[in-house]
Amino acid sequence: MPRLTTVADHTAAVLGLVPGALPGQRVPLPSALGTVLAEPLVSTADLPGFDNSAMDGYAVKAVDLSDTPITLPVSADIPAAPQTGEQRPLVPGTAARIMTGAPIPPGADAVIKVEWTDGGTDAVTMYQPVEAGVNVRHRGEDVRAGVELLSAGTVMGPAQLSAAAAFGHGELLVHRRPRVCVISTGSELVEPGQPTSLPLGAIFDSNSFALQALASRADADAIRVVAVGDDDPAHARRVLDQAAETSDLIVTTGGVSAGAYEVMKDVLASKPTVQFLPVAMQPGRPQGLGTYAGVPILTFPGNPVSAFVSFKLFAEPLIRKLAGWTRPTPLWKRATLAERVMPRESLHTFPRAHLNAATNRVSLIGGPGSHLMAALARANCLISVPPGEEFLHAEAEVQILTYG
Ligand code: AMP
Ligand code: MG
Repeated sequence: MPRLTTVADHTAAVLGLVPGALPGQRVPLPSALGTVLAEPLVSTADLPGFDNSAMDGYAVKAVDLSDTPITLPVSADIPAAPQTGEQRPLVPGTAARIMTGAPIPPGADAVIKVEWTDGGTDAVTMYQPVEAGVNVRHRGEDVRAGVELLSAGTVMGPAQLSAAAAFGHGELLVHRRPRVCVISTGSELVEPGQPTSLPLGAIFDSNSFALQALASRADADAIRVVAVGDDDPAHARRVLDQAAETSDLIVTTGGVSAGAYEVMKDVLASKPTVQFLPVAMQPGRPQGLGTYAGVPILTFPGNPVSAFVSFKLFAEPLIRKLAGWTRPTPLWKRATLAERVMPRESLHTFPRAHLNAATNRVSLIGGPGSHLMAALARANCLISVPPGEEFLHAEAEVQILTYG
């Protein structure tokens, strides 16, 4: 028997569908969350921009406090606010009341915190000495102007957005967020929210919700369309045409197996740009990949667990590549098996499991059936079990991919 395509080979083929990231575009700061920088973020100024107080208290010259307690007149009141005109130096032999973040007046070299004083407004009694430099945050001590703070390719999380805002950027040049269209197929599929008693043979469409949610979690702009029936290839074609006009990636589920009534196969098999092949994995063996009207398309099997696992393994990396990630493939983590697991001889399996975050141990949830959706929902990770002929024993180290 010829060797089936491996998961790694198929991942590489999927990533090969696109040359690289989507073009850059300027977006308002809040819209940049989860996107990838298309140019380095350079500090536009020193940060902090001026010497300022780390405490609410009194700006003083430290030598004036060598003999405490001491009472000094309060000669100024400096809030954290923009100052107009020339900055006024500290009058020698006095203290200036100052708030956190306010500019240190020239001539002062320390701030005594208010808790070490009587808090006076005309005169202040200070109970302890301070050393020069205490509670002063110096200009540029965080970062100097002109420094590359974040390189192109950085994923913008909350901390990175905060830094961009701190330099006054209202917009950022980031790679465009991939637009993903999820299409499920099957004449048995009914939209959830309709009457809950279904005729025999009908089921609710769950795949398109799962895959839209996975795409959103991968920071794509994801839409789903109402399920396409198996008996109307012309309709399926229209839905695909529409998706190709508005998407950077099309993902379909169902209709690609070996049975009759396989609408996606009917529509796509004649296209030289789409290839169907078995991948040496369970769940998710029948896979399709290619382009439709120039847009990358991945066709996943209809079984819910197969579609879910296929998305995590293949669609998510492709979304990451389009989004500009330098390392788009999933981050497998190490965990310890709580029980033994039997591999399949020639298939890479991905059993669903529950990771106990406190102990980093994983326990299997449910069986191998790719229809076991409740088990998928109770579990929170996949275990990677490469083909093999011997048990992986309890306490063995395995690779896991969380999806919580
Ligand atoms: P297929 O790949 O179309 O042969 O579908 C395989 C199995 O998955 C069948 O039992 C389908 O009813 C089921 N299935 C297909 N699509 C969906 C969907 N969108 N949501 C839930 N189950 C589905
Ligand atoms: Mg079907």
